[in-house]
Amino acid sequence: RPGSTYLPYPPVKLEDHTRSARQSVVGVPVQIPEGIEGCIGNTPLFKIKSLSEATGCLILGKAEFLNGAGGSPKDRVALNMIRTAEANGFLTPGQGDTIYEGTVGSTGISLATLARALGYKAHICMPNDQSTEKSELLTRLGATVERVTPAPITSTSHFVNLARTRAKEHTASASDKSKGFFADQFESMANNNAHFKSTGPEIYNQTGGQIDAFVAGAGTGGTISGIAMYLKQEMGLDSSIKVVLADPAGSGLYNKIKHGVMFSNTEKEGTRRRQQVDTIVEGIGINRITENFEVGRELVDDAVKVSDAQAMKMARWLVEKDGIFIGSSSAVNCVAAVVTALRMPKESRVVTILCDSGTRHLSKFWKQVGEMGLEEEHSDLLDLLGVDEH
Ligand code: PMP
Repeated sequence: RPGSTYLPYPPVKLEDHTRSARQSVVGVPVQIPEGIEGCIGNTPLFKIKSLSEATGCLILGKAEFLNGAGGSPKDRVALNMIRTAEANGFLTPGQGDTIYEGTVGSTGISLATLARALGYKAHICMPNDQSTEKSELLTRLGATVERVTPAPITSTSHFVNLARTRAKEHTASASDKSKGFFADQFESMANNNAHFKSTGPEIYNQTGGQIDAFVAGAGTGGTISGIAMYLKQEMGLDSSIKVVLADPAGSGLYNKIKHGVMFSNTEKEGTRRRQQVDTIVEGIGINRITENFEVGRELVDDAVKVSDAQAMKMARWLVEKDGIFIGSSSAVNCVAAVVTALRMPKESRVVTILCDSGTRHLSKFWKQVGEMGLEEEHSDLLDLLGVDEH
């Protein structure tokens, strides 16, 4: 990142490819989106009432599951990666060009949807331990799906390495001169840049810049880095806003932030090179430092470890009390938002991300929530989660 500390991008105006640029003003017609790609961004930020009440703080959820193409923040990332590739000549619509990506699901779904909308093919490599809803959806969207046995990142059969190889093979062998483009969400700066130029500004505008903490998990790290960079740029690097990483069981990022070393809680030092993240949660938690995490790492002030049991209890609680039906990574974010709020003065404003809907997690995470036997009503959130007021 030549010439910068942690803020690689100059201040930006909202891109007009997100809904943010078309907010309605009385008497002025709202611009109608040009296709599904115009329905990305400008998601609501709303008060999560039961969590706010339990903590005495204002806990706000950014409803990213309402993004219009693939139903997650990855819509923003996928669109930005495609537009950046087009600008650099790596993709041309209608030429048979194919987008290759290694993904646990959400990015694949966004890329497969946008590939259809924008004139490309999609080829997705994903681990075979992720929920079947996601791979079936990808197939229905017309993507080629390769489900692979989980392997370390050093292995050529790791889903990310496989996607890179497939893209190269395509370009090398295509008789029609079509191109294979490896989107590379883990390392591509177009990932965190999408959040820097849309999600971050939206959160800032929706709160009037009054935010005491921002809490998010990291898969690629693009969300937490991009939003942290924008908020800290706008509010000042010395402002009191705290950026907090929400980390699931088995992930090494918590220890990286808290202690500067990369190994998961469940591992001893000697075995820390293990790559798989041992958790029921999908989409966040990782045991390596990606470029997208690294670019914002020094802006992350704190981390909260969240157990699978806490995530499942939170997911169930949010349905019971608020009618909010979310996936596992969102549940982890909400637990970490509660823990963060309890560490802050009353009435602090804590913003977190509601990444995707529970419908994408019915066969795995929500099945297990059902099996936990949490059917009876609960009244005390802090007791349920086993967390204390500090
Ligand atoms: N939640 C879900 C469901 C995801 O799929 C992902 C991305 N893998 C994340 C959260 C984390 O986002 P990021 O990659 O920006 O860290």
